[in-house]
Amino acid sequence: MNDCIFCKIIKGEIPCEKVFEDDTTFAFLDRSPVNHGHTLVIHKHHHADIFDTPEHDLADLFRTAKKMSAAVMKATKCDGINIGMNNKPAAGQTVFHAHVHVIPRIAGDGFKLWPQKESTTEQRVKTAAAIKQF
Ligand code: AMP
Ligand code: ZN
Repeated sequence: MNDCIFCKIIKGEIPCEKVFEDDTTFAFLDRSPVNHGHTLVIHKHHHADIFDTPEHDLADLFRTAKKMSAAVMKATKCDGINIGMNNKPAAGQTVFHAHVHVIPRIAGDGFKLWPQKESTTEQRVKTAAAIKQF
């Protein structure tokens, strides 16, 4: 993809703070970290999001995400890690080259990820039936 910023980062056309690279994946620091050490993991193959990414490439991506989780944990001495993947604009995706966020968390940093709703058993039964069709 000629105009993809993450493909350009892989090719070295845009600078980044690379923290890991292997045959299939690449990891670098997010320029706007939630906490210091926030790392993005990408596959060297351009796929827009999780829906477009073949399972074997997802396996590469998450293998590296696991490796980077351990590395970030040790390097930053953080207390936990959130793994995130935004898919499609409604989910907050802004760069359309599939990527996994590895986000260090510090006890008491105060970030609350998601407000949660109440649900009834009836709603859950109906929604589960709809999902199971696919
Ligand atoms: P998302 O909102 O999930 O698509 O995340 C895209 C992430 O890429 C954001 O957290 C940005 O801060 C980060 N980002 C965008 N451009 C760059 C760049 N050139 N170098 C490092 N991180 C970037
Ligand atoms: Zn790309």
